[in-house]
Amino acid sequence: MWDALPDAARSIVKELIIHGPQSRTALSRTLHLSTGSLTRLTKPMVDAGLLVEGDVVHDPVNGRPTRPLDVAAGEHRFLGLKLTADRVYAVVTDLRAEIVAARDEPIGDHSPSAVCDQAKRLLDELSGGAGALVGAGVTVGGNARASAQVGGERLVDAPYLGWWQVELKPLMERALGVPCVVKNDVAALAHQHHWFGPGRGLRDFALVTIGAGIGYALIVHDHLVAATEADLGMFGHLVLQPGGPMCPEGHRGCAAAYLSGWSVEATAGHALRRTVTYDEVMRLATEGDRVCLGVVREAAQALGRLIGHVATISMVKTVILAGEGVELARIAKDDLARALTENRRDVPGSVDVVIEADDFREWARGGAVVAIQSFVTGSD
Ligand SMILES: [Zn+2]
Repeated sequence: MWDALPDAARSIVKELIIHGPQSRTALSRTLHLSTGSLTRLTKPMVDAGLLVEGDVVHDPVNGRPTRPLDVAAGEHRFLGLKLTADRVYAVVTDLRAEIVAARDEPIGDHSPSAVCDQAKRLLDELSGGAGALVGAGVTVGGNARASAQVGGERLVDAPYLGWWQVELKPLMERALGVPCVVKNDVAALAHQHHWFGPGRGLRDFALVTIGAGIGYALIVHDHLVAATEADLGMFGHLVLQPGGPMCPEGHRGCAAAYLSGWSVEATAGHALRRTVTYDEVMRLATEGDRVCLGVVREAAQALGRLIGHVATISMVKTVILAGEGVELARIAKDDLARALTENRRDVPGSVDVVIEADDFREWARGGAVVAIQSFVTGSD
């Protein structure tokens, strides 16, 4: 159904998905279409059940009675998947990326075909109820990159899964029986935040994720800035404090050396002379343990400097923080804010820092959003 839509019709659908039901007058104004064109474009979509008309209200633009248009959000389903080193997170959403069902479980067999079969089984367990599955979005960390192969199929390297040059898209499409799109997980999360999260309504923002690695995505003028493998790998190794602690690649004082999960665990573990998990470091810091609080505060200061660099060079005014390591920013919020301000010529409040909840379902939801963009609205 969605395949045959002209671009102008897709822009109407996109507007309704992001901003909710609207009158034809408001839509034609926003999208610079004549009311005649709008009627011509929307009628077949209403007839096909892609759009629905609401109850009669008075048009806020001209006061006339009107029936606002909306997408039939509940009629269409999308599968979003996030693959980590040891778990698969799956959500089924509607056309507004609202989660209708979610599930996660350990990855059994790490081979690509086994993971695709596992995804199919999860989908079977999750679906049920109304709505037809339109497509799936699979998000992986590391690199989803284009290859030079005939047909331009994207090959996926996911070192943490032991995958190199995997043709994930066709494998997943065969397993699931619907069209699939494969994306970098941080990019997908940025799209999710842009359309349905704290980035909604913002034309420009940056997303920084803290976890096993440090991730970065930049939305400028409503579009994601395209990043190469090299770009993605460099951000986490930006040097923040020459002479600081060393990362496994041998940089002193890079972002990863302060912020990645392993460095927080290693620094705290070294001082405590025992093995500690990330969560334990955060808990001890919250309870006032001096060693752990010191590690967390130092990491938060480094994060403040990093956000300062991001804002100064990209000129975005909002930086969203997400990922499973985001707790350190919450615990040492004041240290982060102070370091950020110092890095911005002591101008306070020049950057809005939004700390998101650590929830892998949001990453899986990012997969559903890139599926919506790929198979319905046709753009980011
Ligand atoms: Zn480094």
